[in-house]
Amino acid sequence: APATQPVVVINAHDLPYLNAKLPVKTRVNDLLKRMTLAEKVGQMTQAERNAVRTKSDIATYALGSLLSGGGSVPTPNTPAAWAAMIDNFQLNAQATRLQIPLIYGVDAVHGHNNVIGATILPHNIGIGATRDPDLSRRAGEVTATEVRATGIPWDFAPCVCVVRDDRWGRSYEGFGEDPALVKAMATVITGMQGKADGSQLKQNNHVLASAKHYVGDGGTTYGSSTTGSYKIDQGVTEVTKQELEAIHLDPFKTSVDLGVGTVMPSYSSVDIIGDDKPAVKMHGNAELINGVLKDRMGFDGFVISDWQAIDQLPGDYASDIRTSINAGLDMIMVPTRYQEFTQGLTTEVTEGRVAQSRVDDAVRRILEQKFKLGLFEKPYADTSKLAEVGGTKHRAVGREAAAKSQVLLKNDGNVLPLKSTAKVYVAGSNANDLGNQLGGWSISWQGGSGTTTTGTTILQGIQENVPTATFSQDASAPLEGHDVGVVVVGERPYAEGIGDVGNGHDLLLTDADRASVDKVCAAMKCVVLVVSGRPQVIADQLGEIDALVASWLPGTEGAGVADVLFGKKPFSGRLPVTWPKAETQQPINVGDASYDPQYPYGWGLTTQAAARQKLLDAKTALLRKGLLDPNVLVAAISIDVALHVKDWSGPQATTALAALTAAGKALQRSRVDGFAEDDAVVAAARWIAQDQIGQNLDASVSKLTADAEHLALTGDLGGAIAKLAAAYKLK
Ligand code: BGC
Repeated sequence: APATQPVVVINAHDLPYLNAKLPVKTRVNDLLKRMTLAEKVGQMTQAERNAVRTKSDIATYALGSLLSGGGSVPTPNTPAAWAAMIDNFQLNAQATRLQIPLIYGVDAVHGHNNVIGATILPHNIGIGATRDPDLSRRAGEVTATEVRATGIPWDFAPCVCVVRDDRWGRSYEGFGEDPALVKAMATVITGMQGKADGSQLKQNNHVLASAKHYVGDGGTTYGSSTTGSYKIDQGVTEVTKQELEAIHLDPFKTSVDLGVGTVMPSYSSVDIIGDDKPAVKMHGNAELINGVLKDRMGFDGFVISDWQAIDQLPGDYASDIRTSINAGLDMIMVPTRYQEFTQGLTTEVTEGRVAQSRVDDAVRRILEQKFKLGLFEKPYADTSKLAEVGGTKHRAVGREAAAKSQVLLKNDGNVLPLKSTAKVYVAGSNANDLGNQLGGWSISWQGGSGTTTTGTTILQGIQENVPTATFSQDASAPLEGHDVGVVVVGERPYAEGIGDVGNGHDLLLTDADRASVDKVCAAMKCVVLVVSGRPQVIADQLGEIDALVASWLPGTEGAGVADVLFGKKPFSGRLPVTWPKAETQQPINVGDASYDPQYPYGWGLTTQAAARQKLLDAKTALLRKGLLDPNVLVAAISIDVALHVKDWSGPQATTALAALTAAGKALQRSRVDGFAEDDAVVAAARWIAQDQIGQNLDASVSKLTADAEHLALTGDLGGAIAKLAAAYKLK
């Protein structure tokens, strides 16, 4: 606890619920029987931290929870200030009769994205593109560690929405359009929470997760009943019962099985095609919350409302409260109306319209998670991991994720990967704009352009490979004398609603970006990267473009994008959503009766052929440079061997990999241009091996190869080779 604060003496009154040795259920029962109705109602109330008029209101209303809404940040916005702020609120909760700790929540939807200096990972759409469930898990753990370090035990993430209409402004918050993909990537929940039984929630690398938005948030239709920019975002999901089950409900079932601690309903409504019932707002949908989520799926965590969402239910506030609590909501994000809410709910209970047993059930669920999180024992921030916020280890995961999320849509004439000897010209609105490559939910709710936090832009990543790369955002600098152009275009940040790129809600590039593409592609070979939260329609310019990459919103580690551009890592991402030819094709999804996309769901080229080429080039360069040096000659031959290995599980491969050690060293010694980094050789060999073994390396293999890559990058080529040998069971 901060020095200025009194130390809370646990077990002071020897009450069973304060005894950490007792089972959680026993503690919950003991505490519940000591609570007044006011204290129970308070537990069910979540206020926004800015809405709390005086800190003593936390005790007065026995508030159970506080949140920081998007961009509700302390000053200064540093990790330490967050920890101090939350400790301060917690102190007020510790001043209550029963000392029930607050549970503080934030939207850390791609890393601890509100905090300056934190690691910001690619938005989920990019994680979906990686097709790497283990990476999704690790990303979840990075987020959880950074969030928990600042004293926050609860994260309103992940969105397990199935994105069916890319005009939805929250498309990037989801992993993709296919429920199977969303389910596979739900491993992020494990990364965040640890084991499904919640036994690891106490640890300082875990937080409580929230699967959102239940259910059908990604299925609302343009033109649905609500008005304005929210007609897609908070509109109506019109589906058959079967579609609801198979597309939208299924990922929630997976989340429940993974032990997700909380679920947040959607602002939207569900309208089942074929029944004659009207659309029902999810916050009042007893059939889907009580019936399906809690009874059928067996969800035993608690249901937290969305921001002010019960206010959208028909009727007055008393009716909103009654309907939502009776539908199965356990805690309401009020977020300002805590006075009215606590009074209102109390009246509903005393007058018998909300059963006491419903309240007890809700409070039981909330307390259970608080106990599991260890909050009664440790209400204050454990700042021992504060230094890891935005630390090297986490940024390495961000970089890996950024690299793996890149989807190569087109690569005419193998223009990618780029050579580090190339004369590179960089242009486009998103080439050197950190804020734009973060997207929404980054430092502020809507996100913002410019240098909003610490990170590397894509341009900076490129310049790490080619320091002399020319940059001109609108391609107004001289174009002559360059071998290849990289034009980074796309969207400006937004959150919720339908999103906006300044061109209305369409999925078209801005005129400025289109002009940059035209200029650069007319003058040289060109690579276009689309940095956006969803596909952009680019059909009419496709002919001018040599290579096209969907970069999504890669986060703070722009160097990861450069890693694949320069062949340090292969392109391995696949489209998580269908890439349309025209906006009028929306909604367009794999499996549609008529499906005529620009690039289909799952599309993504690899650069394995290019890797092969890279090894060949290395060999040629070596031979040219060092014919007289026998080591170099041996190395060149070794590369040849590697290129001819057919069976990477046999002895041939052992020889080849060992020989590549020599090749790497020789390359280093000979300082052959473009092959200065020996890891490129290992990486290239790895891609070829991967190609022959098949795409689907199991988790232990990917772990070993990832380790190998790391060792190679840190210069330990011998170690890397050993790891690779283990990965491919060569030893
Ligand atoms: C969003 C939720 C978010 C909540 C709290 C709402 O506007 O829909 O996804 O968790 O705000 O910030």
